Amino acid sequence: MSSLLERDSACVWHPYSSMHSELPVFPVQSACGVRFTLQDGTQLIDGMSSWWCAIHGYNHSVLNDAVKNQLEKMSHIMFGGLTHEPAVQLASTLVDITPQPLNTVFFSDSGSVAVEVAMKMAIQYWGALGKNRKQRFVSLRSGYHGDTFGAMSVCDPVTGMHSLFADSLTQQFFVEAPVCKFGEPCTDSDLQSLTKVLTEHHKEIAALIVEPVVQGAGGMRFYSADYLVKARQLCDEYNVLLIADEIATGFGRSGKLFACEHAAISPDIMCVGKALTGGYMTLAATLTTQKISQTISDNSPGVFMHGPTFMANPMACAVANASIKLLLESDWQLKVKNIERILLAGLQKCRELPQVQDVRVLGAIGVVELKQPVNMKTIQPAFVQQGVWVRPFGKLVYLMPPFIVSDVDLKALTDAVLKVVSSLDN
Ligand SMILES: *Cc1c(COP(=O)(O)O)cnc(C)c1O
Repeated sequence: MSSLLERDSACVWHPYSSMHSELPVFPVQSACGVRFTLQDGTQLIDGMSSWWCAIHGYNHSVLNDAVKNQLEKMSHIMFGGLTHEPAVQLASTLVDITPQPLNTVFFSDSGSVAVEVAMKMAIQYWGALGKNRKQRFVSLRSGYHGDTFGAMSVCDPVTGMHSLFADSLTQQFFVEAPVCKFGEPCTDSDLQSLTKVLTEHHKEIAALIVEPVVQGAGGMRFYSADYLVKARQLCDEYNVLLIADEIATGFGRSGKLFACEHAAISPDIMCVGKALTGGYMTLAATLTTQKISQTISDNSPGVFMHGPTFMANPMACAVANASIKLLLESDWQLKVKNIERILLAGLQKCRELPQVQDVRVLGAIGVVELKQPVNMKTIQPAFVQQGVWVRPFGKLVYLMPPFIVSDVDLKALTDAVLKVVSSLDN
């Protein structure tokens, strides 16, 4: 019998990877709390929360029970013409905890699809009002919104690798990523690029789509909440909807339950995913206002044209309900503040290293931006050797641990980053 790794490399394609890859993959046996165990017995402290998701850590008894209980009742049922308690409860919770007046919820199975749904909602809304020309979108450079075609079209044209698909993607409008940093005010010149596009093209633009405050996979940048406030005003002024993609930021990661709260704004459409189920299952949701859902429903064709097969999967909704309850009943604000403090104290030290361009921390997100892109072939095993799971991309080495991480484990994570980054060639 060949090894798991041999069988893996024979037929499994990993995310953003080559089938001829020389890059290592590590077989995982199990995961519990903030640790997972590799097949050879090595234990790693998780610094990634499985890409923003596992906020309560792994193998949590409350979340396990939620899945088990729902499994005994009904693992799945179609959502066309049928409904169930886990979905209705989750929708009403999401309405309660997201900014007013978001009060209609459309479930889907992944973040990218939630973004597609948001974009279709915006187009259908304007179509319902007879504004059929409003079919395009404006987004920020360094943004990331997912890997499907509609979502890809609004990702940063460079880091999103647009050029490969240039002929198949809708051409959207891009504006400069905000340079005003988080915690700083922003000036009219910061808004210049957005103002120009809206002035010239608002008649063709259905919506502005942004990741509020934290730009994730497109560059791990934190920008001024003030920019969002002003972007909201500009959208209103130019009759353009605002879509907030909170798929990465939602559920406390940035220090607020939703990053829009840093700016006290409400988007017209909001996408959530990733941490929605505490990382247990794939589930996402697109929320919108009554105004938009009613306008779409009141006008021809009178229905919203989307419906995933696994929409509102009961097990996913049940574990999402349990995860949100667990979060809200915990002192998550304090925990995230504490993580922020320790990340800052630990990663600060990287600032003096010649390899390092910038260090930034917001909420439970810590980023060390290097001057050169990392070599994944060597850096990944180096982190594993340190007993941590940190997965850099490009020039970015970053931590976003589960909220349940202890101070000691968090220190181990920042120490590992300092050690590994110091050892890089520069
Ligand atoms: C991850 C992510 C997506 C895509 O979600 P998937 O579940 O991977 O499809 C979209 N937007 C943002 C901001 C993300 O971080």
